[in-house]
Amino acid sequence: MATMNLTNVNKIYPNGVQAVFDFNLDIKDGEFIVLVGPSGCGKSTTLRMIAGLEEISTGDLLIDNLKVNDQAPKDRDIAMVFQNYALYAHMTVYHNMAFSLTLRKEDSDKIHERVMWAAEVLGLIPYLNRKPRELSGGQRQRVALGRAIVRDPKVFLLDEPLSNLDAKLRGQMRKELKELHHRLGVTMIYVTHDQIEALTLADRIVVMKDGYVQQIATPEELYARPNNLFVANFIGTPPMNFFHAKIDSEGFVWIGAVKLDISSTKSYKALRSKEYFGKDIVLGVRPEHITIERPLKDKMDKGHLSKVELYELLGSDALVHFTIGSKNVVSKINSRVILHRGEEAYFDFDVSHLYYFDKETEVCIYE
Ligand code: ADP
Repeated sequence: MATMNLTNVNKIYPNGVQAVFDFNLDIKDGEFIVLVGPSGCGKSTTLRMIAGLEEISTGDLLIDNLKVNDQAPKDRDIAMVFQNYALYAHMTVYHNMAFSLTLRKEDSDKIHERVMWAAEVLGLIPYLNRKPRELSGGQRQRVALGRAIVRDPKVFLLDEPLSNLDAKLRGQMRKELKELHHRLGVTMIYVTHDQIEALTLADRIVVMKDGYVQQIATPEELYARPNNLFVANFIGTPPMNFFHAKIDSEGFVWIGAVKLDISSTKSYKALRSKEYFGKDIVLGVRPEHITIERPLKDKMDKGHLSKVELYELLGSDALVHFTIGSKNVVSKINSRVILHRGEEAYFDFDVSHLYYFDKETEVCIYE
């Protein structure tokens, strides 16, 4: 169990590349933190600095209030699980899990007890005598986790541990990892490029881009109140729709010729007080906040007419693709409504769930 504090941490590689800029994060004891962002954003570098595998160029790393910048990896009491599992091919599952304890010259009864405990927790008892090649991807990943948990470390670091698994197994392992975290109550820091993994696993998510932290928030906060356009676009599938738009002083937002009445929304007041009237802004709306319906016979249709370009059934939901002007738009609706390509339908936006971004700074404007 451990707390961790990263204060003004920077990483400049010897070739001059700055991979991490001014990283600040206070991690609570037992917290599950996920670092997420596109490839090259600096998340592995951050994790490797925490592990002690990369030097911290400037800034402080504290574990349980003790500065550990100069401590060797083995002295930090941290266990790391990698994407490629890094299992020993010639050793059985049992010996793979026992190995680090044997190296530490632990008492053999204690080693046996720890390995059996980990095998029980991870459902590996039936496989203890198998070699890694005789296991499925998910089982191998569990052995890699087992190797880490037998050591009873203060902190777990996991670098894309599920990315070699197929989609179904990834889903299952996500659930297992979350359960493992509950059961062990240990601090975990997890790196992934997959925003679904971040949303489903994390207590708090750190979104990174080009070496900079964009936002640190709970999954719910991040989804509901993204700081900026990058986060809004990165979190959520399918992604948020974005439009060039303008707000007028009459209470309308205009997307080309499409006019939406936002006069009753909280955001409208904020936009007025922050002097966004008449300015170009970027408007964002999540697919689930756009309705699209077939025209009604009584001609009391609400919304705006468009043509369905594509209807994708996902199960209980469906994605409807259409255009506003020349812009492609995706709406997510209940699949009880079935629409066909080429058919005309009325779309409408839920104006209480619109996002407004400053065109220059890309910061999201909130009340
Ligand atoms: P991520 O894990 O988010 O994909 P990384 O932390 O691996 O990103 O890399 C961040 C940046 O640092 C990238 O631009 C990458 O090319 C660079 N980088 C990573 N490792 C090294 C290294 N050993 N030397 C120089 N540059 C590196």
